[in-house]
Parts: sequence; structure tokens; C-alpha cells
Amino acid sequence: MVSDTLDIQISKAATSRLSTINFENLVFGKSFSDHMLVADYADGQWQNFQILPYGEMMMSPAMSVLHYGQTFFEGLKAYKLADGRVSIFRPNKNAERFNKSAERLCMPQLPEDLFIQSIAALVEVDQQFIPNKANHSLYIRPFMFATEAALGVHPSSTYRFCVLTCPVGPFFSKNLKVKVETEFSRACDGGFGFAKAAGNYAGSMLPAKKAAEEGFDQLIWTDSREHVYVEELGAANIVFVIDGKMVTPSTRDTILKGVTRDSILALARSWNVPVEERRVAVTEVLEGIKNGKLTEAFGVGTAATITSIVEIGFNGEIFALPNPAKGEFAPKLRRVLDDIKYGRTEDLNNWNYIV
Ligand SMILES: *Cc1c(COP(=O)(O)O)cnc(C)c1O
Repeated sequence: MVSDTLDIQISKAATSRLSTINFENLVFGKSFSDHMLVADYADGQWQNFQILPYGEMMMSPAMSVLHYGQTFFEGLKAYKLADGRVSIFRPNKNAERFNKSAERLCMPQLPEDLFIQSIAALVEVDQQFIPNKANHSLYIRPFMFATEAALGVHPSSTYRFCVLTCPVGPFFSKNLKVKVETEFSRACDGGFGFAKAAGNYAGSMLPAKKAAEEGFDQLIWTDSREHVYVEELGAANIVFVIDGKMVTPSTRDTILKGVTRDSILALARSWNVPVEERRVAVTEVLEGIKNGKLTEAFGVGTAATITSIVEIGFNGEIFALPNPAKGEFAPKLRRVLDDIKYGRTEDLNNWNYIV
């Protein structure tokens, strides 16, 4: 719970878009709730927190984010619990990562309680937009960008914090065919792969497009020095089950430290499943598939949830994994994590923040 109360000005939308949204066929990230939250940073402090009707914003064409890319985002979800209450999953972890991204991009910190109160207030105002349906939720997109109207590579003196929400269904509707990327890199040593900086995603689009043209759904990113070690799966973390152990690349400056990754590793440890966070070589994965020791591979993220991999392509060769539905861990992790998120089981770790 948060300590002091943030003063947020609320201007309600004159008409609701709720009836225009087709909840039976939600395309991820295309339907927005009625309101958005906006706050500005100027004179060294955050001010003017407002909840406004969702809509366009004025901007200067000289606004520094457009030229030098000082911007990053977060992604988290709100759920309608079985008892009707509304919960946000682990927003403190997103607040923490928000400030790590801000620090790396030379942008101001936003205190955790302001981050959480802003989001909770927005979710409360638009709670009718939270779908009450299996695998559905309200996706929350906080972001910050540089607003100073000045050319020149230097940190902006002003910033805007904004939060949007979208009712969503599953991001991936099927198991994935993925390609090991050995030419392009998402992030490099000393860079900012650990930050949810917009630039990381801009650079990932061309390699992802090329992989899609070859028939793959996603990329497995490898280290930028040698392309020998596995790092991530597109914009999700990656987990393997090898010899009955849960194995995942250890986090470093090239890897985004996912909240979902943290949550599933915590669950596995609570079940006494051996967990290894370490470097994972591509050869270990491919050999494991061939000799049957690697039984599962899946991507984990807020948008991706837990999405199984059925095929891995490497240098023109395809390696097929066992049927994911028969996996020992992914189906159970998916079920238990959902039971917590939707309030169907006791929240032993205190992961649900009740709005
Ligand atoms: C957001 C993201 C993840 C997953 O993080 P979660 O906190 O679990 O949503 C993993 N990798 C990348 C590159 C990401 O952008």
C-alpha cells in the first residue's frame, strides 16, 4: 500500500467508447480505454498529474524525443479477480524497472508510490474495460518521453509521464516457431538492453521482419560478441527445461529482467524444482533437443505470458521440440500463475496489488 495520497485532477470523457469495443475479438494494443494519465516534469519536479479523456496531444516538432530517442516504457496488467475486486500484478517491480530505465537514459526518477498511485487511479476510473474472461486482462502501458523543444544531444530539461490502458486477450494464439539470430543483435555489452528503451525495439524490427519472411514467429537473440549464447526470445525472456531443471540465461546488461521470469522462477523454487540462472549456449540447446534431455522451451513475459516453442531454426536446420501440451512445467506454471493473477488461489507472495 502507498503512503501519502497523490493529488490527481480527473476530467471524465463526455462519452464512453466502451460500447464500440469488440471484447470477443480484441487485437492486442489496438483498443484503448476512455482515459489516460499524464504528468509533467519541469523545474526539477513531477507536477500536474491528470486523468484525461484518451486522445491526441500537442507537441513541438523540435521535441527532443523525436530526434534523440529519450523514451522508454513499461508493461503490466490489471485483472478482474474471482471475487470481483480489481488487482494489478506486481506493480512495484515495474516501478523499480521504470526507474532503472530512466537512470540509464538520463531521465528523472519517478518515486514508486507516484508510479503505483497513478496507475491504480487510472485503472479504477476505467475498470469497466477490464475483460472478465479467461486469458484476458487490462494491459497497462506507462511511458516517459523527453519534451524539451531543442536540438542538440543533451538530456532534456522537461519530460512527460503518460499511462494508457488497453483491454487485451492473449498476445500469442499459438505455439512458436523461432529462429536463432546469428547476424543481428538486440543489445550489446555496455548498452541498454536491460532498459525498456524504445530504441531497443526499433532495432529489432528489421531482423524480426526477415525472420517472419523465412516463416518464423519470433527470434532467439544471442550475445552480440559471438552469437554463441542465448539471451532472449523477441521481447520476452526464455526458459528451457533440461534434465528436469529449469534453466534460463542469467540477467546482464543485454537482458531485460522480466517480472514474469522472476515470478516463474520463484514458483519453481517453491516447488523445489532445481533452477539454474547461467549462460546457456545455443549448442547446448540444440544438442539437448537431439538427445532428448531438453524437454521444454518457452518465452515468458507480461504480454507473451508463457508461450511454448515447438521449433527452433538454426542455420537453415529445424529442430523440433516435444509436444508442449505434455510438458511437465509450462502448463503447470501457466495454470498456477493464472490462479494467482485471477484470484483463484491464495496469493502467498503478495503479488496482487488490490486497487
Ligand atoms: C518486457 C520484456 C520482457 C518481459 O518482461 P516482463 O516484466 O515479464 O513483462 C522480456 N524481454 C524484453 C526484451 C522485454 O521488452
